[in-house]
Amino acid sequence: MIDCLEFRRRAGAEPFAVDAEVESHRRECAACARHLDELRGTLLKTHVEETFQRVVSRNEQRRSSRRSLPVRRFHYGYPPPQERRAVAERRTAEDRRYH
Ligand SMILES: [Zn+2]
Repeated sequence: MIDCLEFRRRAGAEPFAVDAEVESHRRECAACARHLDELRGTLLKTHVEETFQRVVSRNEQRRSSRRSLPVRRFHYGYPPPQERRAVAERRTAEDRRYH
């Protein structure tokens, strides 16, 4: 059986470790249970925020490096809109030739 001091020492050193003595003290001592929950919550929150921030800044880097590349415009179907008229006229000319 460990006391509150030992519980907090172990919890502080390895907050996410699976430890039978820490677990049994946690079940019996509400104050220590709350202390460990808050400690884990704070660490998880910090981890999530740091990960989120890292993803956001990586996406911003990618976006800004992509801006220097030429813009590609995608369209549905062939031919692309700027060539449609030319293709249509060519087809009409061919139709006249074969009919
Ligand atoms: Zn305690």
